[in-house]
Amino acid sequence: MSWQQRIQQAIQQRKEDNLWRQRINVASPQGARIILEGQSLLNFSSNDYLGLAQQSESLMVAAKTWGMGSGASHLVCGHSQAHQQLEQALAHSVGYPRALLFANGYMANLAVLQTLLNRQDHLYQDKLNHASLIDGGLISSCKMRRYRHNDSTHLAYFLEQEKMLSSLSLVATDAVFSMDGDQANLSELADICQQHEALLMVDDAHGFGVLGNGEYTGSIAEQNLSSKQVPIYMGTLGKGLGGYGAFVAGSEDLIEYLIQFARPYIYTTALPAALASAMQDNLAIVMSGERQKVLASNITYFRQQARYLELNIMPSSTAIQPLLIGDDAKAVAISQQLKPLGILVTAIRPPTVAKGSARLRITLTASHTEQDIDHLLTALVTLLMLNKGGD
Ligand SMILES: *Cc1c(COP(=O)(O)O)cnc(C)c1O
Repeated sequence: MSWQQRIQQAIQQRKEDNLWRQRINVASPQGARIILEGQSLLNFSSNDYLGLAQQSESLMVAAKTWGMGSGASHLVCGHSQAHQQLEQALAHSVGYPRALLFANGYMANLAVLQTLLNRQDHLYQDKLNHASLIDGGLISSCKMRRYRHNDSTHLAYFLEQEKMLSSLSLVATDAVFSMDGDQANLSELADICQQHEALLMVDDAHGFGVLGNGEYTGSIAEQNLSSKQVPIYMGTLGKGLGGYGAFVAGSEDLIEYLIQFARPYIYTTALPAALASAMQDNLAIVMSGERQKVLASNITYFRQQARYLELNIMPSSTAIQPLLIGDDAKAVAISQQLKPLGILVTAIRPPTVAKGSARLRITLTASHTEQDIDHLLTALVTLLMLNKGGD
């Protein structure tokens, strides 16, 4: 088979499987409403949970000071005071000794797992972990096992079975699962890790900035845990913080180790300093806690109304509120039919989620109003009725 045949066949197969993906071309900043093909759509698809992606003031001000590019990697001359200050503010915001900035969450996850784990080590991951954690495990060439979703007993069984003197174990989990919206039981995982001397890493892409306990932000704080119980924390700046970038928080030693040895940290250009500076402003907005209150009230309202309308919303108390459809084609059809009604909700299909569990991934933000939510729910009820046949 030639390269061309292989590529064309794969594309053809993708289409036949109803898994063909197409990008949309948005003509406005992110927000509760976005412009698409000249039409204004109510947007229930973004991860801009606190409605911060639109705000441009701090970036414009910072660009005046720092210009556009960072010009080099962190270890050469790309690391500025703006990066340094943001790292300190991030560490402080989650209650950790130190933090290290990365280009994005994908690279941060690759960096941690690839750098820490040797070939003989064991990595345990929740079955529904984000692809970047899975890929990090693969490139580290360690021994990787995936335990059943949110099943601590299954994890404990693996750890017990594979106890070995010559190897170290690491357990990695999403704190909020990105396609389901449910949360890991972090204190249970922390206890099991402590018992088995395994290192616990938490990916809080959807919790950082959004969840918290008033003093600190993120899932660790929300679940009343400390940085000792969760030694490795990964948070991203592209979701709740409305910008771009990511960080790993941990002990002084862990962060120093990553600076010395993490290839995805060392061999890449630093984030623009202006962006780092703007992210610090967004962090300050987030830490005031006001936007989280609006989001929380939207989530409560959505779930109340959806229950009343008997919609099959998956169990979740976070901003991610998926409507389970099951059939791939039907999920895509409903997503398509929502557009003429002025609503954007993305259909999520395998391989992103398990076969037979295609869903509409509804995300709520602090920018939505109850009226927006009513509009969405009314449209969903109508379209579910229309698409009833063929199950
Ligand atoms: C989005 C996401 C990432 C990747 O973060 P980026 O900064 O977008 O690269 C990692 N983990 C989880 C759970 C995510 O949802």
